[in-house]
Amino acid sequence: MPRFLFLTLIALPLLLGCGAPPVEEPMEPETVAVSDQPAGEYIRFADASGAASWGRIEGDEIVVLHAAPWAGGGPTGDRVPRDSARLLAPADPGKVIAIGLNYASHLGDREPAAYPGVFAKLPTSIVGPGDAIEKREDAGNLHYEGELVLVIGREARDVSVEQAQEYIFGVTAGNDVSERDWQGADLQWFRAKASDTYGPVGPVISRGVNYDDLELTTRLNGEIVQQQRTSDLIFDTSDIVSYVSRYVTLMPGDVIFTGTPGTTQAMNEGDTVSVEVETVGLLENTIASR
Ligand code: MG
Repeated sequence: MPRFLFLTLIALPLLLGCGAPPVEEPMEPETVAVSDQPAGEYIRFADASGAASWGRIEGDEIVVLHAAPWAGGGPTGDRVPRDSARLLAPADPGKVIAIGLNYASHLGDREPAAYPGVFAKLPTSIVGPGDAIEKREDAGNLHYEGELVLVIGREARDVSVEQAQEYIFGVTAGNDVSERDWQGADLQWFRAKASDTYGPVGPVISRGVNYDDLELTTRLNGEIVQQQRTSDLIFDTSDIVSYVSRYVTLMPGDVIFTGTPGTTQAMNEGDTVSVEVETVGLLENTIASR
């Protein structure tokens, strides 16, 4: 093509910005490997439509993630004010596992076990901050159990104690609500421990702190009724993940209640119970009739 024709027909219109407008490619949200998710506080919250979203707290804002943080959830680019979000349980687990008798202060006259005492709760027991713990009329001896709760970040099968921390995404606070009369009378702890609403967790997942040295405090109607550090766990967080993974493959998002310290007492309709874990914050729930 002669040079003047090239300049007139192609180069000049391009230089003047008269070319076809660029096609807008939809932005692909960034996928983040779980090992690259930063330390901090992660939440699950309801957006304006009521749909559940994941986010990471940054100051007064929530950085919205396009998926759970262990499922590649990178920032969508949206941010919402922290105060505007209604918090949901920060896990939607396939499995809810729990450890019993894991603080010397809770053993009473019982000898410490040689290995962790594991039992199962059910995903339908999980509720979030502010949700009601439902008390049936025949649940006459319903107790709180304030606990540290592990949230699994990577599939874990036959994991060694030395490697176990890599499989924990973070921790939250939980209440292993327990009906003591059913716990003593039934063949298994199915209704005593796994009934609907017997597993409140939240308010945030704290990631990147020392999970084996956090203060745990339970309050019933504002009065401190349990207080201990997780450094007093008989089987620590690494022991627990390793042990459970020998028998059951842990999946990202699964949760493990790690045991409760001290003594517990009965709760009644209208009572408010809270479990606070250092760096996680306060999980508060009230008891309501079902
Ligand atoms: Mg418990």
